[in-house]
Amino acid sequence: MAEGPDGGWVIDETVSGSINLDERKSLGQWLREPLLGNWDTLVVPEQDRVTRDDIHWWVFVGRLMEWGKRLVVLDDPGLDLSTPNGRMIAGIKATQAANYRKDVQKKLINAKAEYVKDGRYVGGHWPFGYRAVPREGQEGWERVIDPVSSKWVREAVDRILDEENPGSTQSVVKDWTKRGIPTAREWQAKNTPPKPGTKPKEPKGYKWQATSLQRVLLSPNLLGLGTWQGELVRKDGLPVQFAEAIISPAEALELRERILNNGKKRRGIRSNRSPLLGVVYCSCGSPMTYKHYKRPDKKYQYYRCCRVANEFTGCPKKARMWPLDVVYSYLEELFLSELGDEPYQKHKFVPGVNHYPEIQTLTEAIENLAENLGELPKGSRAARAAMEKMAEYEKKLDELEAQPVTPSRVVSTPTGKTFRDIWEGMETWDERGAFLARAHVMCVFAGTQTNPDVTLKWPDDLLGRVTRAVPMSV
Ligand SMILES: [Zn+2]
Repeated sequence: MAEGPDGGWVIDETVSGSINLDERKSLGQWLREPLLGNWDTLVVPEQDRVTRDDIHWWVFVGRLMEWGKRLVVLDDPGLDLSTPNGRMIAGIKATQAANYRKDVQKKLINAKAEYVKDGRYVGGHWPFGYRAVPREGQEGWERVIDPVSSKWVREAVDRILDEENPGSTQSVVKDWTKRGIPTAREWQAKNTPPKPGTKPKEPKGYKWQATSLQRVLLSPNLLGLGTWQGELVRKDGLPVQFAEAIISPAEALELRERILNNGKKRRGIRSNRSPLLGVVYCSCGSPMTYKHYKRPDKKYQYYRCCRVANEFTGCPKKARMWPLDVVYSYLEELFLSELGDEPYQKHKFVPGVNHYPEIQTLTEAIENLAENLGELPKGSRAARAAMEKMAEYEKKLDELEAQPVTPSRVVSTPTGKTFRDIWEGMETWDERGAFLARAHVMCVFAGTQTNPDVTLKWPDDLLGRVTRAVPMSV
């Protein structure tokens, strides 16, 4: 703030102390003619507000003396630039401030990388399907599944992985453009509150491109895994989970296959729908696929060992066909008898708390100040300032160190539903088939229809797998 003879004030609160004084709009004009002659005292709340750069500080002090102006620093009323001692103390403070700023910048970058390793959000683009929210009861931000855009991601995945009529990214993009589905950037812009005091920006219109959708669909972010500057984030060698996954690992692999081999492999793909592909198996170990044929009176639908069609080898178990309704009723019965009464608990990923980066930063800051302190005159104003700062850091350090380190974990919350409700909530066999495949449930059909031997093979960690496989829509 600069005080004019008529009590005029320049208020410059929002400008960072790292911006050169002459370059600050409101203040700069007072440092030049014709306004230069109109004031004699510059009042600032803290010395930091003048500049955090020590060189600028010395230059500025030199000019003030040349002009015969006074400087009043409100938090340091004893500051006196008219004596050599006063100028020296002010200079040391400025040097300290400059050191501190450079240090902070370096540490900020390091701390960001550490935060990312904790699955935290440090700014930048939201992965499509997720949004950033303040962490509950803690400082900082995290990403969670966005209820709206995750549905669009799900829709694109389901359309591209559709067995009967697999869509291309191009066809999804065409349809999304028609429907006005916002791009990742538009969605983020629309859902981010504007900075206080600024006009909400109308986001620039971006358009979906096949390549941008592909980037979204191939990103490990959809598995809830973090990336930092284009690379998968790892901690102790393990990929870091920042939120729940939107797609399963099996779907991620399939998407990769479909998108990267777009067109090449697809031409030979079965046009028959086999929603239970990967779920139902022949006793020879081969998957069964869906077949159908029409007779004037009836449409026949069934599953059959995929090796039957091979005229040379055939199925070594001489497997027969299994009518669709028989396959369905076996699967339903076996699934419900095992899991029907099992309560379904939602799994929620809770990122851990670890203040290590902040602790590290503060410890280094204290060491740095202690080193500087040795060079300051005992009992001087500058020494006192450094000691106060150290005490403040130590207090904060004690607080942080007293907080427990908790690892990231998954918490289960009861939903009041059983797996029977989940099963019945899925309306089509496409959904149930995809669910069973995600859960790694296998059903082996041996024997004949009149003398059947049908067994369900459950994966290890059955409950965990079926829980993770439950579609978000249920
Ligand atoms: Zn077979």
